Amino acid sequence: MKLITLQCVLVMSIMLMHDARAQHESPFDKINQIPEALSPLNLSQVMPTGWLKTQLEENLRGFTGHLDSLVPELIIEDDIYGTDRLTRQVKSKDLGALSDAGEWQVQFLWWNSETQGNWWDGYIRSAILTNDTGHLKKIKAHIQSILATQDTDGYLGIYDTDLRYNFETENGELWAKTTLLRSLLAWYAYTGDSVVWIAVKRAVDNVMVNYPPGLSHPFHIHKPDAGGLTHGLVFTDVLETMYRLTGHQAYLDYCLFLYRDFSQQELNEDGQYDKLVKPGVPLLGHGVHTYEQLRPLAVSYYASGNVQLKTAMDIFLQKIEITTNPSGAPTGDEFIGGRNADATHSGYEYCAVHELMDSYISLLIKTGDVSYGDKVERLFFNAAQGARHPSASAICYLKTDNSYYLTGGKNGDTSDKNQTRYRYSPVHKEAAVCCVPNAGRIGPYYIQHMWMQEDNALVAELLGPCEVSTIMGGHRILLKEITEYPYAHKIRFEVSTGEPMKFQLKIRKPSWANDVKSSLPYTLKDGYIVIDKTWGKTTVLSIEFISQPVLQHTSQGEIYFTYGPLVLAHPIEAVETITRQYAVSTCKEMKYAPVPKTIYQYISKPGPQIKERRDKPMNFLTSMFNPDSGIEETIDLVPMGQTILRQVTFQQYRKE
Ligand SMILES: [Zn+2]
Repeated sequence: MKLITLQCVLVMSIMLMHDARAQHESPFDKINQIPEALSPLNLSQVMPTGWLKTQLEENLRGFTGHLDSLVPELIIEDDIYGTDRLTRQVKSKDLGALSDAGEWQVQFLWWNSETQGNWWDGYIRSAILTNDTGHLKKIKAHIQSILATQDTDGYLGIYDTDLRYNFETENGELWAKTTLLRSLLAWYAYTGDSVVWIAVKRAVDNVMVNYPPGLSHPFHIHKPDAGGLTHGLVFTDVLETMYRLTGHQAYLDYCLFLYRDFSQQELNEDGQYDKLVKPGVPLLGHGVHTYEQLRPLAVSYYASGNVQLKTAMDIFLQKIEITTNPSGAPTGDEFIGGRNADATHSGYEYCAVHELMDSYISLLIKTGDVSYGDKVERLFFNAAQGARHPSASAICYLKTDNSYYLTGGKNGDTSDKNQTRYRYSPVHKEAAVCCVPNAGRIGPYYIQHMWMQEDNALVAELLGPCEVSTIMGGHRILLKEITEYPYAHKIRFEVSTGEPMKFQLKIRKPSWANDVKSSLPYTLKDGYIVIDKTWGKTTVLSIEFISQPVLQHTSQGEIYFTYGPLVLAHPIEAVETITRQYAVSTCKEMKYAPVPKTIYQYISKPGPQIKERRDKPMNFLTSMFNPDSGIEETIDLVPMGQTILRQVTFQQYRKE
């Protein structure tokens, strides 16, 4: 007994020593780099077909293809990376937004770089993925003119020599470069043009020379509230792409340096290490900042292999889960404010939907964990489609899952006269032209990451109609994925190789699929359907995912239905008011009010709760209690991505 006690004491003291050492070790120490599980394919190796292609074409005919003519004053008339670079003399700028000036004035100065950079990024990728020669020609000219703004020392950015890399206050130095360089890297991926590559490399080198790692503080600021400064943390997106293209370690190490400096400064940002590791500290900040900060943290963990960063990431993911609505959208309208998900009251921003999706894609690449694929699909098919107008070229800047009014304020709220975000617009200039550019990025980012490579395997991660052309083991593989997914659960794959070739085809099995029917023998491993064979000239593989509609519960005890990756909603009949028609015919600003506003309630009953309509696939009928009429009524449920006003969640009916 005594011996055991002594042994216990010994073990405990060793553990305490380990703990003490762990506490002294910095979470930013580099231990052992972790390789990524998967390699993303190059942009344009996955080309969209079917509804995905149609959607990009619609965007190109609307806000993505024409944003420069919809808001010329923010794009064409402000050469912010060139002749209109910011100097100490510039004190204010017209950005169109309805906002109080003063304290925040200085942050507005970089706004147009975000609008321009993110718009070009989505526009370039959309034109490449649809092979639109007219738009590609215009983009080629733009690339030449932006490269011409590069200084002899490599500087590409928005500040004149009196300001650059020399700030005590809010600034957009790294953020303006991030949005620009992401778009240039997209163009380089498509063209392989070495002139573009050298320009990007010199611009990144210029940052690393002027903000030397370990010897500078790019995130230092006198006041803790920042916008462009802290958006600049996702400069790691550029660095990570550069690392994947070159294998050059300095790019990854610089990511770790940036995240460390960001964490060590006094800033009101959720993604700082010390806040993340405290599970009791809720997410408070500007949603789009918070959700994009998952990426720099993830790349820092993989660059360092430091388990303390893994712990921070795990807690961060739990905190995000609490803010996540049924559509997958994370709360933040604009700020999160410590609120949990709530289908009626927690609004979300289109920008944040894109950024969180991109963060989950980053984790999918790193881990190969299929659950991130489910998260990406949930966001893209429900939140993103559900805030995009079904027929016009316009989006909601803010939306809620239960959307009873889209007249400016949240669900009909008129207390803030400047609130215009809850309605459809192809620009949202009164608030900020941030969400519309991101609405042009989200489709291309989904499409590029539908397929990835892993050793001797080609992996379908995100499902949908597309064609793949890639090289593995020196051989070209052409693959067609023919499907209406997620609006059907059958997929036909046509795999062609020039000569017989052995490799694995892996397909992510969605978590909702109860069973799989396959025309070829397969094994299931780590959530993937694995087909390991020698592929002949052309092989056809048919896959069907078997599932039923599922009744789900929110954390507030409300219910909603899903079918496959789709969240279902009851569409609410509405009166449409077109408040502005733009010269581009599909671009309109629109408001919607319900006729009438009935909020249905759910009466629990045994047996199947909903049934699919025979005449309309993916359309369902259910019965719900109407508190206005006092009777149960049969109502429609459709994919929420196809709705304008809608009810997604239903309170349980309680007899008074
Ligand atoms: Zn936005």
